[in-house]
Amino acid sequence: SRSGKQSLATQKSSKATDTTSSNIKVIVRVRPRILPREANSPILIQMGSDGRTTTLLPKNMANSSPSDSKSFQFDHCLWSVRSTDDNYKSQRDTFELVGKDIIQHTLAGFNTCILAYGQTGSGKSYTMMGSNEDEDQQGIIPQSCKELWDQVQQLQNIRKRFHLKVSYFEIYNEQVHDLLASNSESRVKLKVRENPQTGPYVEGLTEFQITKLEDFNKYLKMGDVNRTVAQTKMNDNSSRSHAVFSINLKIREFGINLDGVESSSDSFSETEDYIKETNSSLRLVDLAGSERVTSTGATGVRMKEGTNINKSLTTLGRVILSLSDRGDGPNNNSVASKPPYRDSVLTWLLKENLGGNSKTVMVACISPCDYEETLSTLRYATLTQKVRLVARANID
Ligand code: ADP
Ligand code: MG
Repeated sequence: SRSGKQSLATQKSSKATDTTSSNIKVIVRVRPRILPREANSPILIQMGSDGRTTTLLPKNMANSSPSDSKSFQFDHCLWSVRSTDDNYKSQRDTFELVGKDIIQHTLAGFNTCILAYGQTGSGKSYTMMGSNEDEDQQGIIPQSCKELWDQVQQLQNIRKRFHLKVSYFEIYNEQVHDLLASNSESRVKLKVRENPQTGPYVEGLTEFQITKLEDFNKYLKMGDVNRTVAQTKMNDNSSRSHAVFSINLKIREFGINLDGVESSSDSFSETEDYIKETNSSLRLVDLAGSERVTSTGATGVRMKEGTNINKSLTTLGRVILSLSDRGDGPNNNSVASKPPYRDSVLTWLLKENLGGNSKTVMVACISPCDYEETLSTLRYATLTQKVRLVARANID
């Protein structure tokens, strides 16, 4: 049966390699104005009727010309202001556009990732997590859990078994904190190692099996409580840490023994030889605020913290710059630099999702204020669109 398994695997994996540019998608989401102070430094953003073009109008309309406007094209531009009816995108719409396909790809055995990028207050956590109390306010994470769970219920049968596990960690100050560890000592100082086949991973990270839909919510809540405890100890790190919630999916197909005769349902056991195994992971990432950390007045821990937070995000920027410059542009004459994944914990752990075997979506979140930060986010998002990923379904 081993050789049969091998040939099946080779066949499948050659079929399930996707090198198209659609492996990376970049979406911009503009949040509504919510604070009075935002009226003092408003920025003007226009969205094209194609639902893709985002135009940032000049900072100072009075003494500038229309050519000072800056236009960008993304896979989608999502508006959160109800008055612009046609373009208004709710949490549900956002999931339809961003998450649904990703769940299908995860089920097909691809590594997948959704990242929220943007300055503090731009709607990253609202987009990823939203509010779990109100069903209409649920973000991409709870909606992804539900969609994945529903799909698994439909697809599983006696010969096709699905195993779901979750883990949840944050990267703060270049250290990995296990948000699902049972006590605070085992929550810190985890090491990153690399598996030659599957890439970098966190050693000893707590994983929980999901056996019912509510389990997802239970572990998300547990992680958030642990995150809050850590925050109070460390001067509110919520905007300074990167949170990564992962769902690992294993699909095993059983059913045909050596003679090609179907085994009966009650002979199933976990040790029984399976003919096909598919492994995939979905990573849902709420990044630290992208605003430039000013070093004024920062000393000691704060300063170290600042530089380290900067380190993860600046390294992410360098990795994306290097990857965007790797490829196939018309005037590509650059000496391809090696992406500096290892220079930060974040980029090291997300290596596959950023530049390897993955289907990845970046949601660039922007606030209706702060011209410079918004422009910087839009430029960053534009660069990310140029990254090319080669996704392979992980089937053995
Ligand atoms: P971040 O995580 O990027 O710092 P938040 O997600 O916490 O930002 O958003 C800041 C505030 O704006 C929150 O009160 C959030 O509820 C609100 N908000 C963000 N995005 C939206 C949106 N699309 N629609 C309505 N409210 C939003
Ligand atoms: Mg947040």
